[in-house]
Amino acid sequence: MSSIDDLPPLRDVIATHGIAAKKALGQNFLLDLNLTAKIARLAGDLSGADVLEVGPGPGGLTRGLLAEGARKVLAIEKDPRCMAALAEISARYPGQLEVINGDALEIDPLAHLTAPIKIAANLPYNVGTELLVRWLTPKDWPPFWDSLTLMFQREVAQRIVAQPGTKAYGRLALLAQWRADPRIVLDLPPEAFSPPPKVSSAVVHLTALPAPRFPADPAVLNKVVAAGFNQRRKMLRSALKSLGPDIEDHLVAAGIKPTERAEQVPLEGFCALARSVAGTT
Ligand code: SAM
Repeated sequence: MSSIDDLPPLRDVIATHGIAAKKALGQNFLLDLNLTAKIARLAGDLSGADVLEVGPGPGGLTRGLLAEGARKVLAIEKDPRCMAALAEISARYPGQLEVINGDALEIDPLAHLTAPIKIAANLPYNVGTELLVRWLTPKDWPPFWDSLTLMFQREVAQRIVAQPGTKAYGRLALLAQWRADPRIVLDLPPEAFSPPPKVSSAVVHLTALPAPRFPADPAVLNKVVAAGFNQRRKMLRSALKSLGPDIEDHLVAAGIKPTERAEQVPLEGFCALARSVAGTT
């Protein structure tokens, strides 16, 4: 029996169901259920919320979320080997855990969830970043989720909360801080995982703002920011050349010196630039 429920310890679950970690699926499992319950608490009050969990694996965080009182958890997992272990959790929490065997990048979870919705995940780095960008860039705002509680490599977490003038500042910081409030809420050493990854990790909690901090079209902002940081060492007037011959005028209209580099421009400046480029100012 484990410390948070009456299901077997995760090491036993992994051995019983033959879920040896596969590198190709980015599998580094959390085995300490006190830790997964702590991460679930960092997601906020779960009692009246549905939680989308991406990549549950053998179910450590899933059990944390359910033990902390989530109304319902929808868990999307790519690895079919995890299905039997997750079915045991479903049986322990009748009607509260729905599991889908599939790729989270291809499944629309909305038909399975009722607002308010929180998202929690410990995902491989590349999938996590891709999903984060998707969750932050829908056309309309507020999004379908209230908060995201996500594990990242520590270096990626720092890029999400980075401020202008730092090396970590870039597209992730701007997209995350434009429409959400991101904070690093927990640091984890490699030994917290089995097998341990090469680098440290961190949990980032992002709360959706009711409205973006500054007006801008998400597609245009994304384009301007991507172009600016693609060649981050160049002055903006040359880094943004691909956006049209009058880019220097747009920079001036947005109050940005054409000789500045993307790294020096705060969120407000990029939003003003996106509005000028879109012709909405
Ligand atoms: N949440 C578990 C934990 O904390 O122990 C597992 C974490 S492990 C880092 C990442 C999990 O995501 C693995 O179980 C892996 O099979 C799953 N995964 C990888 N790519 C996925 C995808 N595209 N869609 C859904 N699950 C995915």
